[in-house]
Amino acid sequence: MPESRSATSSEVHVVSAGTSAQHVLTYCPRCGSKGFSPPDDPGMHPAAYFLCTRCGFEFFLNAAASTAALIEREPGLLLMTRRLKEPEQGKLDLPGGFVDLRERAEDTVCREIWEECRLRIVRTYLVNRTYWNSYVYGGFTYHTLDLVFRCEVASWDSLISTDGSEVETLLIRKGEIDLNAVGLSSVRRIVGDYIEGNI
Ligand SMILES: [Zn+2]
Repeated sequence: MPESRSATSSEVHVVSAGTSAQHVLTYCPRCGSKGFSPPDDPGMHPAAYFLCTRCGFEFFLNAAASTAALIEREPGLLLMTRRLKEPEQGKLDLPGGFVDLRERAEDTVCREIWEECRLRIVRTYLVNRTYWNSYVYGGFTYHTLDLVFRCEVASWDSLISTDGSEVETLLIRKGEIDLNAVGLSSVRRIVGDYIEGNI
């Protein structure tokens, strides 16, 4: 999937070299040998295939699937969150989160919206555009593929102002969203496309 058309050419994914998989994953998880590394094309960044030269163990690094929700209380009034934790603590975000193993992405987004906002979702619509991201957490660079859902809420009466640990919730008019206050670059691109009417 090519980079979203709305991504600006000035957007730079700053990933410090010491946090990349080939710098962190240096021992074979099966035999413990030090000979665990990307075997070919040293110029390929980021490396996604690792091989143990001692026992032959192969390891493939894939993007983690993640979800983001676009939920309007009324046309042009978007539900957003403010992150209370790193990465991008204090910055704006969208409700959503990582897909668990063997979980459907549409179930993920409903679960995350309940956990973060206490809203029940009655319908989800997958947006026909996806977004990738790379960011450092705990000294390791994670790669994601973000799936966006437009969602319909059963009732806004149950919306909470914060889940107490992860996020605060807020409703912002489309014309008043400061993209520079959005923390994660893929979410910035999603919200930018929402504002421009592309998704
Ligand atoms: Zn090994």
